[in-house]
Amino acid sequence: MNKVWEFEGLLQQDDWISPAYVTTDNSGLITDISTQKPILDIEVESVAGYAIPGFQNAHSHAFQYAMSGLAEIHPDPTSQDDFWSWRETMYNIALTMDPEQFEHIATMLYAEMLSHGYTQVAEFHYVHHDKEGKPYAQLAEMGNRLVSAAQTAGIGITLVPIFYQQGGFGKAPSDKQRRFISKNAESYLELLSASDSATKKYNKANVGLGIHSLRAVDQESITAVLNEAKQMPIHIHIAEQLKEVEDCLEFYGQRPVEWLLNNFAVNENFHLVHATHLTAEETTGIAKSGAHVVLCPSTEGNLGDGIFPLGQFQQQGGQWSIGTDSHIGINPLEELRILDYGQRLTTHRRNQLISPTNGDAGRFGIDMALKAGRKAMGNHTVAYFEVGQPLDAAVIDAQTPLIATSNPKNLLSTMVYSGDRTFILGTMVNGAWKVKNKIHYASDQIVSNFKTSIKALKFR
Ligand code: ZN
Repeated sequence: MNKVWEFEGLLQQDDWISPAYVTTDNSGLITDISTQKPILDIEVESVAGYAIPGFQNAHSHAFQYAMSGLAEIHPDPTSQDDFWSWRETMYNIALTMDPEQFEHIATMLYAEMLSHGYTQVAEFHYVHHDKEGKPYAQLAEMGNRLVSAAQTAGIGITLVPIFYQQGGFGKAPSDKQRRFISKNAESYLELLSASDSATKKYNKANVGLGIHSLRAVDQESITAVLNEAKQMPIHIHIAEQLKEVEDCLEFYGQRPVEWLLNNFAVNENFHLVHATHLTAEETTGIAKSGAHVVLCPSTEGNLGDGIFPLGQFQQQGGQWSIGTDSHIGINPLEELRILDYGQRLTTHRRNQLISPTNGDAGRFGIDMALKAGRKAMGNHTVAYFEVGQPLDAAVIDAQTPLIATSNPKNLLSTMVYSGDRTFILGTMVNGAWKVKNKIHYASDQIVSNFKTSIKALKFR
């Protein structure tokens, strides 16, 4: 049904439109944007909020949501706990879930993402096989479950099935990695094709191509799958950990990003996840290649990864998006804040999230995370809202005291630097409320299924 939405304001690239009247057709596509109320005999819904484009979550491992908070108890406080010991806990949990439990956890997570204003997620998915490591009868069974989870929750999904071949540079996979493994490029490409088919049931789903990391796939196989990438977004973890850099130096004689840039035609379709440990030359190399970086500040902080050289990267026109990775945090406002604060704490300067043409840090962060985030989904739309595109929006609550008293100029930075989920009045996907008045439309059932599955898994 055609409908008119009346917002207090609608954020466009250059400024707020206020008031804003957005007309949508019966599939949720925008047919008109105006400051004047259309003279049409159709339903008008007034919304006490400011609509901004829905946030793009460019990096997710949905099942890890179930282990949030579980790796913070240290029975022996004198022992070393780092990324690699955290990874052991994560592997143990990945081995426990059946497809239905996996789907329930992902659905809960995706509903929570919507409540925080995300409308699209890139799922970096590597738990492909059954608990014994055998492929399911339907090769993309687990990917199919993620698409179902996204559909039930109402979020858009870019399913990125991950090529995971080996346990480390030149090393066989460990037994605990058995659910992840594709032996060679051919078997990965079969999985990719099955994953593509699994996305066809949902009009907000598509696929990307994913390589777990340089340590997890050999050079010949990377070359073979990249040849099939066409225009798909290409996701890869890179240089997250110092040990990974050392291992790569030992095996290839070069650092991870250095080796990637030297051996492949890296371009704007690449989304390098973390890219934490870089030399100045590597940082310049990524920026020059046009590749994007996906930063996951709450997870990177939680895992003690390190700090990305954002200032240098931005000065050279580098583009970045945000992701919530392990989901220890799932608030996009917090991701932007932690990213900025990490830079401020290490540079002793406050103006970090800015460009020569945009000195509003909140606005700059939202703009960068939106545009690069969309590209991580294979979506090259630049306009915030335009005719012909779906109405996917996070709506800021105009009644929140700080928002109610902000002038439009201060609104985005007020939200980014002081906001939490209570600032999000609702989230719309394809012109329909998925979260309305702060409540997810299918919350009761989703929470109930989540509790049932977690209880059965017994690890929380
Ligand atoms: Zn990750």
